[in-house]
Amino acid sequence: LTRLYGPLTALSNVRVDVMSALVSFDRVFEVLDLKPGIEEKPDAVAIPPGSGRLEFRDVHFRYPSADEVSLATLEDVVALDRTENAPVLRGVDFVVEPGQMVALVGPSGAGKSTTSMLVSRVYDVTEGAVRVGGVDVRDATLESLRDTIGVVTQDSHLFHETIAENLRYARPEATEEDMWEALRGAQVAELVRSLPEGLDTVVGERGYRFSGGEKQRIAIARLLLKHPSIVILDEATAHLDSESEAAVQRALTVALEGRTALVIAHRLSTVRDADQILVLDDGRIVERGKHSELVAAGGLYAELYRTQFAVGDSPALPYAEETEQ
Ligand code: ADP
Ligand code: MG
Repeated sequence: LTRLYGPLTALSNVRVDVMSALVSFDRVFEVLDLKPGIEEKPDAVAIPPGSGRLEFRDVHFRYPSADEVSLATLEDVVALDRTENAPVLRGVDFVVEPGQMVALVGPSGAGKSTTSMLVSRVYDVTEGAVRVGGVDVRDATLESLRDTIGVVTQDSHLFHETIAENLRYARPEATEEDMWEALRGAQVAELVRSLPEGLDTVVGERGYRFSGGEKQRIAIARLLLKHPSIVILDEATAHLDSESEAAVQRALTVALEGRTALVIAHRLSTVRDADQILVLDDGRIVERGKHSELVAAGGLYAELYRTQFAVGDSPALPYAEETEQ
């Protein structure tokens, strides 16, 4: 039995390693906006500066199976495992016009995070295309893609370096004044000013430990410094206390102003304000429209609205007041 189960156990352990390796690539990408393995075509074109249009055209996607993840150390194990992953996105098609905010909602596992990762090329589509400013992201120069797209996720990573160094990843030539301006916009300037070493404060285990909400606001300051024309945001704030959440919310309002935004929305206030809501279920857009239309339609959105958004939205309007009877 041990001989039978041994290899299987080893296999599943490696699977976990592959997953966490991918997760940490995502994190690094968010900060450095570089992902190992993504290559620029020799004839790549630049996305026009300031482009705000984002298109998904009949996008299909399945995660690469272990044998497509080329980590040399896994070769032996990979040979045993050639099962294909199931499709995660199946014909996702939408446009975010410049300056619009589109909210992506749906049950857990629907494919929301996956959709957001295809924009910054953490992964590439299996079929179809993602276009930014009319350019297929696979044909774009990496520099122009980095400059155009900004990503904020719920667990923003800060390096064990000074605050200034963390901010300069977004814009190496940023002046101190630029940094303070970004920190003010991100609602975290007062805190940084109160630290004895200010911008030169070292962040992390052997330095100043920011809370989750503070870290997120530093990450938003980084985004403001970079001023991308398109922002991809996973707004989950479940782990923040309500004071911190309110500050993060104000910071995000500043960050999204005048920009195109694709927001994986967890707050009722965000979905209500969205120019368009896309309801994703099992890799397909099953409903789209404005809040009131979708509530009236009585479909999946109405269901999510009752169960998900009405709960956990922090300065939530009482549910009863909002229901259209
Ligand atoms: P959501 O953000 O809507 O909760 P995700 O985009 O995270 O959904 O996941 C969509 C589907 O893709 C889920 O079935 C999930 O298990 C699967 N999935 C997510 N990440 C990976 C991965 N790295 N490898 C294989 N499957 C994955
Ligand atoms: Mg997700």
